[in-house]
Amino acid sequence: MPSYRKRAVVLTTAAACLLSPLAAAPAVAAADATAVKTLVVGIDGASFDFLDDADMPNLDALRGRGMVSSSNLYGTPLAGTISGPGWSTIATGVWPDKHDVVDNNFTAPRYDLYPDYLTRIEAAQPERSTAVVATWSPIATTVFGSAVDSRIQGGNDVGTTAKAVEAIAGGADDVFVHLDEVDGAGHSTGTNGAAYAQALAKADGEIGEILAAVDARPADEEWTIVVTADHGHTPTGGHGGSSPAERKVFVIAAGPGIEPGVRHDVKITDVAPPSSPPSASPRIRPGRSTARPYRTSRPMPSTRCAPSCRPARTRPVPERMSSAGRMRRRRGGASTTPSCPPAA
Ligand SMILES: [Zn+2]
Repeated sequence: MPSYRKRAVVLTTAAACLLSPLAAAPAVAAADATAVKTLVVGIDGASFDFLDDADMPNLDALRGRGMVSSSNLYGTPLAGTISGPGWSTIATGVWPDKHDVVDNNFTAPRYDLYPDYLTRIEAAQPERSTAVVATWSPIATTVFGSAVDSRIQGGNDVGTTAKAVEAIAGGADDVFVHLDEVDGAGHSTGTNGAAYAQALAKADGEIGEILAAVDARPADEEWTIVVTADHGHTPTGGHGGSSPAERKVFVIAAGPGIEPGVRHDVKITDVAPPSSPPSASPRIRPGRSTARPYRTSRPMPSTRCAPSCRPARTRPVPERMSSAGRMRRRRGGASTTPSCPPAA
């Protein structure tokens, strides 16, 4: 049986490689017939401590076959526990002291230095099909950049789920999905309210629909699936402060190269680590700022993870991918009209 250190190295590598197709886990890279795909589902305001008791069979199943790690966010004065900094951290892989998103105003983000991971995938492998589908509109319009093939505002979680299912069914390679209504319930009643548990159950049903779309894909696709959150909520409702209930977040991940089990060292910055020297990546410990800024004018390294990693094989896009009204295959930009973002 491998030692804890050995297992940690394996999992650290998997975490550091989690989402980039450049960083396919060795087990995937070794399978010639495999297409590497990634899915991240973010549940806004989902409190880790309330997942167990909520009616969430789909998330429970994912947790059962995947890795689960809870951790704490920053607090003030670095940044409040709110959505702008939270989702920017998850998307870029760096903390607010680097991406400079400290509130929901997005006054001077440094996405030029620290782009979202879909933008980096597009820079490295433009043939991949990338999509972000979000209920909170700034995620689709601001956090994820214009290089992403499809930036879709779902309007509400039902709409977001439908668009996400459509994107996956249409052959998207890398998909980020944001569900917002658990946060709304948190603001209404707090984590102690019945509406909060009901919203978690509803989100789980939507996750189930999205995972069913993944299951319906061809068997030669290997999906890495991550579920995470941007902040918690207080028992009576609200977030933004630095209490443990507001700071506690989680990463749940399942897929090739990810050992199932509970960990305590994987943070939300490990969902999409920023670019870093290939020789250093396998030794990166989750949560440490060892990465160098990535500038879009620089050529991407051929790999940024373990030497055994190699770029994912790409496949032709199904015709249904480019049909009118569906997600755009190539650099078509946003597919929906802007709207005022709801509070998050
Ligand atoms: Zn939020």
